[in-house]
Amino acid sequence: MHFSIQQIYKIMNEVGRRNFLPSELKYLADIEEALPIGHDQTISQPYIVAFMTAALSPDKDDKVLEIGTGSGFQAAVLAKLAHKIYTVEIIKTLADEARERLFQLGYENVFVQHGDGYWGWNEQAPYDCIIVTACAETVPQTLIDQLKLGGRMIIPVGPVHGAQSLVLIQKDEAGVISSKNVLAVRFVPFTRNIRL
Ligand code: SAH
Repeated sequence: MHFSIQQIYKIMNEVGRRNFLPSELKYLADIEEALPIGHDQTISQPYIVAFMTAALSPDKDDKVLEIGTGSGFQAAVLAKLAHKIYTVEIIKTLADEARERLFQLGYENVFVQHGDGYWGWNEQAPYDCIIVTACAETVPQTLIDQLKLGGRMIIPVGPVHGAQSLVLIQKDEAGVISSKNVLAVRFVPFTRNIRL
């Protein structure tokens, strides 16, 4: 299955980015910018959500791992396309709020865990698709290990304040890894300190 960016925008409209924004910022839901969600974190720019989702293009039977739940918006978009979404967030308040928000909105196939996504979510591995929404200096090997044969991962890689790019990684049926840079981006950092 391969989705276009336009098709993903339609799904994003159904999900409603405004449902994932703090009430005082809901009026900005349609602007093409990342917006604050508290705790120095952001909900990504809509184009980036569409681009990353289209790059993964999950199948309806796919099991997906997301690192960096944030508001839960990206997870909700994926939940419309794939079978089950496992998402890990390092800031407990954000994880708890996203879990409650997704429950209230009726998403029953998204599972939110508070923890350091560097370790992935091993109990549910392997995954058809992995999406990382915080920028790592290098690709964690633990996440590559949790990818199925034939699986794909999209992850922003680069220095915290420097040139970052979205990297699309494929693991072929023999387990051979290939990767390519697909877009220049600017993301919040992938951190390792678990917070409340
Ligand atoms: N996908 C989110 C965007 C979140 S911004 C959305 O749709 O709203 C990136 C998130 O990654 C932040 O909430 C940040 O706290 C989280 N994060 C950073 N490092 C992490 C790590 N090691 N494990 C899990 N989450 C992490």
